[in-house]
Amino acid sequence: MPGPFDGIWLVIAFAVGSVVGSFLNVVIWRTPRGESVVSPGSHCPHCGRALVWWENIPLVSFLVLRAKCRTCRGKIRWRYFWIELATALVFVTLVRRFGATADGIAYCLFAAALIAALGIDLEHYIIPDGVNGFALLVGVGRDLWGLATGEPSHALVYGLPRSLVGAVVCAGVFIAIQAMGLALFRKDAMGDGDVKLARAIGAMLPLPLALVSFVFAVGVGAVIGGAAVVIRGMRRGADRKVELDDGDAEDGGGPTATPWGMFAIGSALYMTFGDLIVDGAARLKVGWATAFNRWWNAQLPPEEDEEFVPAPTQVPFGPFMVAGAFLAVLFGRPAIDWYLAWAGLAGGQ
Ligand SMILES: [Zn+2]
Repeated sequence: MPGPFDGIWLVIAFAVGSVVGSFLNVVIWRTPRGESVVSPGSHCPHCGRALVWWENIPLVSFLVLRAKCRTCRGKIRWRYFWIELATALVFVTLVRRFGATADGIAYCLFAAALIAALGIDLEHYIIPDGVNGFALLVGVGRDLWGLATGEPSHALVYGLPRSLVGAVVCAGVFIAIQAMGLALFRKDAMGDGDVKLARAIGAMLPLPLALVSFVFAVGVGAVIGGAAVVIRGMRRGADRKVELDDGDAEDGGGPTATPWGMFAIGSALYMTFGDLIVDGAARLKVGWATAFNRWWNAQLPPEEDEEFVPAPTQVPFGPFMVAGAFLAVLFGRPAIDWYLAWAGLAGGQ
């Protein structure tokens, strides 16, 4: 496997990763705000001045300009630098793992979408459909490519492309969790964005690894999420008196107020693949799809006008799913082998 060009590919992966990371910063900032990711070009968030080419070099410009705008001296957040560095390192890791192959490229594209999902979910508690859609497209595209070129790992499963089966199963797992949360606690345990992210992970990763990634996500979530809740709780402790006044005021709204039985079933059908079919058809101006979309949106809980403020105990799950997927790609196989051996199921196979 190691060849004379491996080092070069890793350098290329780092360079491309930092450039992609730079673009992801734009996606993370603009997509939740409904702005275009292509125009206008990069500009200073403070004075609005368009950046010249040498201010746009990933990692380097940030350090040379010492996290400040060259002209107005406004502070640029370190997050830009970390996203670029993280993307570069993730690309290097994936190219090391898969080589400069179709898998290497596909996993890098998939990782790019997941890094965007992570960045957006951390700040806004949503994962845009466009980001999840891109990740799904990469997963299905890679699978169909493997199917067309006869790669054994992409053979049909029950006569269907592996990616579609994986997507349905993984979306199904999350919809089941969602429905259970709704039934038991009358609360949204799982956002639609998480279901769609699970669908994309199911399309990209081999099914056992996709399922393991959810286990990893819960594990990482339990550790980091628990710590975050404690830290946030301590921070809020100071202004608790103010918080108590409007305590549970917003608990009346949301999906709990809608007839959730039919809604849950409709939601499940819609989110397995229905949303793609209906949105695609609506975009082509197909009458029934437009009508259905209008009806569907009327079923959704009313959008909150005020900016969403997470409760101190609320932590987005998307970032843990992203971490889980990354860990599953790297360590999923050994983890499954270890578990099977531990459970005594590996004997004779
Ligand atoms: Zn500026």
